[in-house]
Amino acid sequence: MAGGYTGKTLRVDLTTGKITAEDTLAKYKDYIGGAGLGYKVLWDEVPAGTKAWDPANRLIFGVGPLSGTGAPCGGRVSVISLWPASQFELPAVGHMGGHWGPELKFAGWDSIIIQGKANAPSWISIQDNKVEIRDAKKLWGQGIFQATAAICADIGNDCHVAAIGQAGENLVRLSNVMNDRSHSAGGVGSVMGSKNLKAIGVKGTGALKISMDKNAWRDLVNGYLPLMGCNNQGVVPSTPQAWAEFSGSTRWTAQKGAFWGRATPPFDVGICPADDLNKMGLRTHKGIQDHGFEMGVKYTTRIGGCFGCPIRCHTAMDNPNLEQFGVSRFQTNTCNGISHGPGWYDPAPTGEKLMLLKQIGSALADDYGWWSDYGQSGRDFVYMKKKGLFEKYLPAKEYAAIPWKLWEAQSPEFSQWLYKTITYKEGELGQAFADGPEWMEKRYPEMKEAHIKEYELQSWKFGMAKHHSTEASGQVGALINLMRNAHAQNHTHSNFQGSGLPIALKKEIGAELFGTPDAVDNNNDVKPMNAGKARFAVLSMIYQDLHDSLTLCNWTQPIWASPVKERKYRGDPEAEAKFFSAVTGINKTRGDLELDGLRILTLFRALTMRFMNEADMRNKHDLIPEWAFTYPKDKEPFTSGHAKMDRADMEKAKDMFYEQLGYDAKTGAPTRALLEKLNMKSVADELESTKLLTV
Ligand code: SF4
Repeated sequence: MAGGYTGKTLRVDLTTGKITAEDTLAKYKDYIGGAGLGYKVLWDEVPAGTKAWDPANRLIFGVGPLSGTGAPCGGRVSVISLWPASQFELPAVGHMGGHWGPELKFAGWDSIIIQGKANAPSWISIQDNKVEIRDAKKLWGQGIFQATAAICADIGNDCHVAAIGQAGENLVRLSNVMNDRSHSAGGVGSVMGSKNLKAIGVKGTGALKISMDKNAWRDLVNGYLPLMGCNNQGVVPSTPQAWAEFSGSTRWTAQKGAFWGRATPPFDVGICPADDLNKMGLRTHKGIQDHGFEMGVKYTTRIGGCFGCPIRCHTAMDNPNLEQFGVSRFQTNTCNGISHGPGWYDPAPTGEKLMLLKQIGSALADDYGWWSDYGQSGRDFVYMKKKGLFEKYLPAKEYAAIPWKLWEAQSPEFSQWLYKTITYKEGELGQAFADGPEWMEKRYPEMKEAHIKEYELQSWKFGMAKHHSTEASGQVGALINLMRNAHAQNHTHSNFQGSGLPIALKKEIGAELFGTPDAVDNNNDVKPMNAGKARFAVLSMIYQDLHDSLTLCNWTQPIWASPVKERKYRGDPEAEAKFFSAVTGINKTRGDLELDGLRILTLFRALTMRFMNEADMRNKHDLIPEWAFTYPKDKEPFTSGHAKMDRADMEKAKDMFYEQLGYDAKTGAPTRALLEKLNMKSVADELESTKLLTV
């Protein structure tokens, strides 16, 4: 048995009640685990035409071979399914951190495949080998906090619980599954709801085997830690500090006076130099990152994180002002309420008012299990209000009943009204915002126009959120946002770009990674497309899928740059291959692993083609919004001061990107030659049989 794997994948059929174990490596070895395993399950088992809420859809909680091993930042879980928030219900992945994934491994399971639909509300109890489908009637209708507490009371406080709230139960498309109250995978909550599945509680008493000798493993980890920076792999502090050669715009917010002000007693994280590894978990004062210095210092209790993470980006806040609104003063999350609160109001609130709105938004959304899709819903709300679209589309009685006075006053009571309205899909407004921005494009044509043309709405294609797009490495960011079926969730490129190093150094490192210094531009100073940028984009996609399959945190890795001056700030691009080989005992070079990543990415592409029933990915799927091409009045293409794209150059970028992936440049689809090289002949055969393979 390879280390890192338990060898068993759990399958639960909620229709029949059948619970079985499958051999993970026999079926899924070529796809590593996590997201790769999930894509393979969808490919093998879910036919074209299936919709997200059909019992035939699968919901896969995919955990990879590095989770739970102690490999740094190996606490992640990929949740794979047909995506209800997508207007085409295409396959996508949500990600959650916390401790749930490692606990699943300690219970003896690599991943879980859920199929069918229970005939009554249920939850799954996993206590090592003992797996049961349990009655969840008393949990149904409860928020995530209550459901989690009830399951902990049942099977023990040392369990870890992934649950949905009322939003998932009510088939709100923008809903999430949340483990341990505040680690969420956005977008998939309603798939659990459609299967009548409230929660999965896991308790494991086992351990994982690491193939490498213990001393060598310790040396590997200890050699890697100094190369890690802060959250998002910023490798220099955000403020000038005596120990640091550089400073830059990073999340290394530790500095003198950066207190956790609500700790007892208040704790000053102070200066955290790169060579003091005992303080590396203090570098990222995420309260400051999320709320600004004054509010972050005032309300932060501590910074926590996922299993095996030395970096820590999970903020715990204590805001006593919340109690008057009937929610706990203690709130935790990775992006602590930043998607909730500020976006819903015009003008945006500031200071204490903003802090309160963010925290009440976090409290309500985390309990209802509602997901704002990176704050897009707030932006849509303000846009519709400004443009008179609520008057146009809402029944007059419903419009008149909206508590607009509370909205004008920016009152937390408006947030309470709004989140409940959306969670319970009350009225036209509740239904529209429950479905989310992608489906809103079908409902309101003006919103489609707005998403495509209005920069400030920051949507990418099909109404999905942009995620580190043109503003993060120009064409590279744009290419990354092309292929996914939900927000791109890719931090590979944006972390390197946002490392905080001077541009000359990034270009030097970029030349080693991507073949030319011209692969890397200064943000807002985009130069024409070249082969190095295509390589940068391809590797960014491959490493995202590798991290989601291994499962490692792509919010901080890969480590392409480092804080170590003696290494000329170089990181270790071989790290993933080293950790995979050490843990599993299956020796892979960096090139081998990148080929695995390309296989996983290409299966994802094949799935998109199947469920869209479309061969021409280039022109029907890989779309770029108009706003990306709209230059400011006084600027031209390729001049500094903006991150806008040039149309002809972007077509060239697509050509180069597809060519480097081994895809057909005309359609952006994989070729038979590539599929066969990747040991995916059966995928090529099926695509050909459905007339989706053209070359
Ligand atoms: S960096 Fe943040 S999201 Fe990533 S593993 Fe660490 S705590 Fe979790």
